[in-house]
Amino acid sequence: MKVLKFGGTSIGSVEALQALTGVVKSNLEQGERIIVVVSAMGGLTNLLIKTAEDAVKGIDFSNAMSAIEARHFEVVKALIPIQQQNKVFTTLKIYFQELEDLMQGVTALKELSPKTKDAILSYGEKCSAFMLSRILRPVYEKTEFLDATQVVKTDSSFGNAHVDFDQTNLLIQNYFNHHNDELTIVTGFIASDNQNRTTTLGRGGSDYTAAIIGAALNASQIEIWTDVNGMMTADPRRVNKAFSLDELSYTEAMELSFFGAKVIYPPTMVPALMKRIPLVIKNTFNPEFEGTFIRHENKSSDTVIRGISSVDYVSILNVQGSGMVGKAGFSGRLFSLLSREQVNVILITQSSSEHSITFAVAPEDAIFAKSLIEQEFELELAAGKLEPIRIENDLSILAIVGENMKQTPGISGKLFSSLGRNGVNVVAIAQGSSEYNISVIINHDHLSKALNAVHDAFFAELQKTLHVFVVGVGNIGKELLTQIKNHHASLVQDNLINIKIIGLSNSRKMFVNPDGIDLENWENILNEKGEQASLGGFVDQMKSLDLPNCVFVDNTATPAPSQYYKEIFESNISVVTCNKIANSGEYKQFELLKKTAQKHGVDFFYETNVGAGLPIIKTLNDLIISGDKILKIEAILSGTISFIFNNFKGDVTFYDIVKQAQEKGYTEPDPRDDLGGIDFMRKMLILARNSGLALESSDVELGAILPENCAKAPSVDAFYEELKVSNDYFEKLKNDAAAEGKVLRYIGKLEDGKVSINLQAVGPEHPFYSLSGSDNIIAFTTERYCETQMVVKGPGAGAAVTAAGVFADLVKVGAE
Ligand code: ADP
Ligand code: ASP
Ligand code: MG
Repeated sequence: MKVLKFGGTSIGSVEALQALTGVVKSNLEQGERIIVVVSAMGGLTNLLIKTAEDAVKGIDFSNAMSAIEARHFEVVKALIPIQQQNKVFTTLKIYFQELEDLMQGVTALKELSPKTKDAILSYGEKCSAFMLSRILRPVYEKTEFLDATQVVKTDSSFGNAHVDFDQTNLLIQNYFNHHNDELTIVTGFIASDNQNRTTTLGRGGSDYTAAIIGAALNASQIEIWTDVNGMMTADPRRVNKAFSLDELSYTEAMELSFFGAKVIYPPTMVPALMKRIPLVIKNTFNPEFEGTFIRHENKSSDTVIRGISSVDYVSILNVQGSGMVGKAGFSGRLFSLLSREQVNVILITQSSSEHSITFAVAPEDAIFAKSLIEQEFELELAAGKLEPIRIENDLSILAIVGENMKQTPGISGKLFSSLGRNGVNVVAIAQGSSEYNISVIINHDHLSKALNAVHDAFFAELQKTLHVFVVGVGNIGKELLTQIKNHHASLVQDNLINIKIIGLSNSRKMFVNPDGIDLENWENILNEKGEQASLGGFVDQMKSLDLPNCVFVDNTATPAPSQYYKEIFESNISVVTCNKIANSGEYKQFELLKKTAQKHGVDFFYETNVGAGLPIIKTLNDLIISGDKILKIEAILSGTISFIFNNFKGDVTFYDIVKQAQEKGYTEPDPRDDLGGIDFMRKMLILARNSGLALESSDVELGAILPENCAKAPSVDAFYEELKVSNDYFEKLKNDAAAEGKVLRYIGKLEDGKVSINLQAVGPEHPFYSLSGSDNIIAFTTERYCETQMVVKGPGAGAAVTAAGVFADLVKVGAE
């Protein structure tokens, strides 16, 4: 048996309720018995509080009442079959009438006691649970509604009542034993005292209701369904880089939620822990998300802290003076006073000299707490043994939490240095004796910055998930996505790298989904859900999502994306590209990009700029980094040119071989685009720049393959005609080389700081002599590899190998 609790956002709208129904349905299909607990519709409890506060001031509340009604009616109209709607309206109207009577009572008496307030608030849950029970009837006929005031018994601390577990457990067991064939929808949050007056369990208390019921019935699991992917490393509204946690211990969950992680109400952990029932936080809007498991047995975390949470506003009170030193029982007197008067103390720090105690309370409690202390310690104050009590406002608490902190030194150092570096002043510090949390009090103005800085400091090294934005989904892009899809599981399992494609764009459409795009179906998603493509808009969305370990992949061959690289690096996003344009433009630009990436600590990988997937730039870099000196690089970096000269031998004419290359699909539509050597030249330039030379394309000596008449022919057909006309020219080249026992090769060379590409005749001693097919080849002559060169050879073009090269670059991002 499982208990499923749905929060306000899961029941706040028609769409949400449809998602909720889906979750319930799939659970029922699995055949397990479930009990559903619900909160009021999202925002409704706040609205009820505000309306009641208005009512006490005599402000007209009829608009608010109509709004409350309208929200429920809208859902009923959309989700309940028309024949059944009237019955549902009738019950809801009775509730609204009772609620209105209560509000009127408040106005008449000009009084809103905690008791009345609880009675008012209970209507949020009563309406939602009743309504949901009727919405779910078509899914499961015997769906009934249970008002939890019948089964959850508490004391009479209205607003935050304490559960009487003995009574409650019996009542729950009794009720569900008698209703074991029905799907019960229970109101969260509300209960009743021994006089059957309605009480509430504290804000957020529906989670607690679910745990109380789950524990009473020994449920196998208690699921908290909300609007985010489980418990995250920090509040996702404040820290964009926060990510979901797979699991936590009860203590960790308790500490995180105590210090503000609202996703689960702290007392919820207690009944679950007592019975060791796992609590799972799940996302109604993303049911595939497995959930955050809070349980007894956890695998050890690979990070020192689990998460960071914060309390937005607190005030601190400072009690100090000589009267406190060595006085046993002073703090006992102080804190039992506060507890007696129900002032909740969030955090305490005491200086080691015992000269002062600082403690934090909710801002609304500060003045009351101060006056309590002033009364209690009147004599000490009058005698000057205590200094006047000081209150400081507009402060926040930031807490880091995790069981691993206990064994790990240096954590507070890391915390304080990250705060210090970001200019955040720490007003007070507390470390719980459990060492499961360290809390600091800081100025509220600094909270967002502090949370992000601390998150970066503790989680940056994880680099588990790469968030990838891809532009260009043509041959290479498509192949890349297929490869990622196919290797995804093994990458996650064996390499702890999870590649998530967040954004996709081609020249027409773009689509971004922060939760990741399904690679089984990306083409349809892009076509159907994509908006009109705009590169600037795509980059803006990527920047504003501000995801950790973010990578921009440019698979295009157009100049536009490279204009954004700098801006992308400045947003701490890495770039992986097979596009040569950025690196073969002006040297200044190449240098600026490299420096910007370096300055922002991100990667700029473009292995596929030269020789597709062959490890050429990597090899060059490795040689240089390891202290070798490059003496010469020789290369054939065009598959087409390689094919043409490798096969231009014997009786074959140059015309024949170019035609053949075209028929095999090796050449560009106009073969002169290959034979002109421009693309080859760009690759040589990129190599030269990576070996440290500040060269421009005009510095490269580019020897011609074609005589003028061929190069300048007005059309492709005319070009072929000119090849025939120039047959003697090519034959002579071939025969002259053959006469010396050599072959023709068009070779790029980097030597003595100069780059040239020329047609050459090479003999059998040269590594390129026996080259065949359309392979690329590159030979490094270095101080270490000088007798025999280091040679890299293989296919240097094609979508599959290029995509594989991009993929390899992608996986490397953030690895160093
Ligand atoms: P529900 O209505 O489902 O009970 P709540 O609003 O009570 O939902 O809690 C969910 C919200 O908690 C999330 O929308 C999120 O903004 C906030 N939250 C704060 N800290 C965290 C955290 N560490 N992890 C996840 N959510 C958090
Ligand atoms: N509706 C209640 C609240 O808003 C209880 C809950 O949502 O858990 O506090
Ligand atoms: Mg909640």
